[in-house]
Amino acid sequence: MRKKIAVGILGATGVVGQNYLRLLATHPWFEIVDLAASSRSAGKTYEQAVGERWLMDSSMPDEFKNMKVRDVTDYAAIPADVKLFFSATELGDKQATRDFEFAYAEQGYPVVSNSSANRWTPDVPMVIPEINGDHLEILPIQQKNRNFPDSGFVAVKPNCSVQSYLVAIHALNEAGYPVEEILVNTLQALSGAGYKGLTEPERRITVNPFIPGEEEKTENEPSKILGLLEDNKIIPDYSMEISALCTRVPVIDGHTALVYLNFAEEVPELDTIKKIWSEFTAEPQSLKLPSAPVPPILVMEEDDRPQVHLDVDNGEGMAVTIGRLAEDKFFDIRFVALSHNTVRGAAGGAILTAELLVEKGYIKV
Ligand code: NAP
Repeated sequence: MRKKIAVGILGATGVVGQNYLRLLATHPWFEIVDLAASSRSAGKTYEQAVGERWLMDSSMPDEFKNMKVRDVTDYAAIPADVKLFFSATELGDKQATRDFEFAYAEQGYPVVSNSSANRWTPDVPMVIPEINGDHLEILPIQQKNRNFPDSGFVAVKPNCSVQSYLVAIHALNEAGYPVEEILVNTLQALSGAGYKGLTEPERRITVNPFIPGEEEKTENEPSKILGLLEDNKIIPDYSMEISALCTRVPVIDGHTALVYLNFAEEVPELDTIKKIWSEFTAEPQSLKLPSAPVPPILVMEEDDRPQVHLDVDNGEGMAVTIGRLAEDKFFDIRFVALSHNTVRGAAGGAILTAELLVEKGYIKV
């Protein structure tokens, strides 16, 4: 059994931070030794800092209740044994968040971030481990570009909405059926809007047809994730066009995507598509990473699935569940895809990325 790797959580008191605590409490490789948040929480015990804001279904793990929360900018108080930080911190403006993440990397810490601030920084990989784990090879270039010590870097995960359907698209591309056009409508859960999303009562009785910035992220981020690493650069792949309409719906956890698409060349039979998805497997599964869902894509035949309350936790919240696959009147096919936004789309996706970083030797332990 390997010795556990000491990790810290930046933004530990928020919705994503709480999910890190829930998921890492029993993780076989990682052990939380540092919890950090804003100056509002700093100096309090984790239990005091979170107070009434604990939003997980399970109770707060006992081992974290009395840990003192550190101010995220108090670098002097970082425990000596921390080898990796997960960041779920947004400092208001993007540049401040970028600088904040790089400040940790500059001190030799790997940072796996949930924030959107660094997603388009050219030398920062934006990773879905089942698709583009090879983009991690840009990390030594990032370290060289920015004079970071060889242990420090920033890697990020993409927007939560993208994870609901992009692995399924990648599986089709990889099987020789490249996708050319996608129309996607997302039905996104309240937890995706953080603490406010879950606690403002009016949000529970409405569908909000606008999530600031979400459609741009949904349309643009796949081009970087599906891009090629060439000549020490990630070259985005613009061959697939996406049009997205994103809505917030009164659901606690789970982003559903209604996807319509056209293929660039041959249109596969529906049974062929189901076989491609059901048999799809990737590097996290072959490496047997602890958080890798097996299988990564679940195909359901029932007319009324996937449904959030029945399927959001499939694969411990890490699987993508697909149903309603059919031919469409205007597009080649359509389907419904579901993933857990705070697990696969946030903390769980980042933990899987960190496991891949450990396995590939980027995190010095
Ligand atoms: P949240 O519930 O609002 O939590 C925000 C966290 O950041 C808290 O720990 C808060 O600490 C801390 N924080 C806020 N302002 C700060 C400041 N000025 N300095 C230092 N710390 C500060 O948000 P969340 O949903 O967990 O989201 C966190 C990040 O993950 C965001 O970048 C979000 O876009 C991203 N994300 C979220 C999801 C999701 O499904 N929720 C999915 C993907 C990505 P205090 O408690 O001390 O205020």
